Amino acid sequence: MSITPLSDPGAASPPQASEAAASARADYAVEFTRVRKTYGGRAAVRDISFSIRPGEFFSLLGPSGCGKSTTLRMIAGFEQPDTEGGGEVRLNGKLVNHLRPYERDLGMVFQSYALFPHLTVARNIAFGLEQRGVGKADIATRVRGAMDLVQLDAKTFGERLPPALSGGQRQRVALARALVVEPPILLLDEPLGALDLKLRKEMQQELKDLNTRLGITFVYVTHDQEEALTMSDRIAVMADARIAQVGTPAEIYERPRTPFVARFIGESNFLEGLIESNEGGRLSVCHPAGMFTALAGTGSATVGTRVHLALRPERLHIDGEGDNALPARIAHVIYRGEMLHVRLTTAGGGELTVATRNEGQLRRPVAWNPGDTVRVTWFAEDMQRLEEDPA
Ligand code: ADP
Ligand code: MG
Repeated sequence: MSITPLSDPGAASPPQASEAAASARADYAVEFTRVRKTYGGRAAVRDISFSIRPGEFFSLLGPSGCGKSTTLRMIAGFEQPDTEGGGEVRLNGKLVNHLRPYERDLGMVFQSYALFPHLTVARNIAFGLEQRGVGKADIATRVRGAMDLVQLDAKTFGERLPPALSGGQRQRVALARALVVEPPILLLDEPLGALDLKLRKEMQQELKDLNTRLGITFVYVTHDQEEALTMSDRIAVMADARIAQVGTPAEIYERPRTPFVARFIGESNFLEGLIESNEGGRLSVCHPAGMFTALAGTGSATVGTRVHLALRPERLHIDGEGDNALPARIAHVIYRGEMLHVRLTTAGGGELTVATRNEGQLRRPVAWNPGDTVRVTWFAEDMQRLEEDPA
């Protein structure tokens, strides 16, 4: 079989990633069970567990140094998990802890692209096929198919050397080289990091389309929260060598589990207060800015204990609707283009940020000026109850 090129009208029918993937459809393409990796006594990855379904676009998201690449490299086989702790890495149900990278059925795209500078684009892409002993005629067809797939014209670019390509074109070559061997799982480590914003957005859409059309499982490493939200079926947010939360983009953004997740994905207001009463799960919370109502959710809500709550700026309104209202003073209005961010000072000296749609400041400027007194309003159900970050 071959990868269906973009121009093929038959591409609408769902193609299979590979025969291997089709015959051995395990429940999970990738499964980590309490996997640990330490370097010289320091944990790069601490006993993490997660599973990725076949065909999923799964992102590992987190700040630099949190262990994303180490996790990806353990999937690839470039790193082995510590034997201590007994963690397991499985691919398509098969234990692979000790398999070498070439013994695993994977493709990988690195941020640095890692192209051979002295080989033509076509030879770079053919490399994995040559290693596997694929015949010459077959190689030519498959290289052309892979170049079509990443929208690189074979006639124009096939005989060029990588130094004569733009960053975006090199990125496409690296992607074609990984896809040409038709791996059931594709690993990508910050592959768009070196591209400018416009090209990055374009490539995000193309990668997502490839994932959907080819049915290949994508494991995507990024530190860019917007990128992860845009592309992923599910996201694992990593913090300090651990997984803080796994969920769909909406779950991660709308129900962050910890302050770290709420802060890392988007912006948030944090309100920590004392539970003064609990009537059937509706909490009266005492806060320096004033009293407000919050929902207990699933956590315990004993009167007299503290609750940690987060509130997205776009869920707050100035003199708007909601079952909560607190007095506040306008500190300043920040122009962001699509949105305006209004910073408010509350009683007790706290700050809240309200995001509001920009209706056009030249034609319909907002009426708020620094120093004005307003009411900040919101609905109790729009608050997110948080657990504490692990120590
Ligand atoms: P990320 O990709 O999230 O930026 P990494 O997985 O590359 O993070 O690194 C996680 C931690 O492990 C970092 O503190 C890093 O310095 C350390 N680390 C990664 N690779 C090695 C290595 N080969 N030797 C020693 N320390 C390493
Ligand atoms: Mg990294």
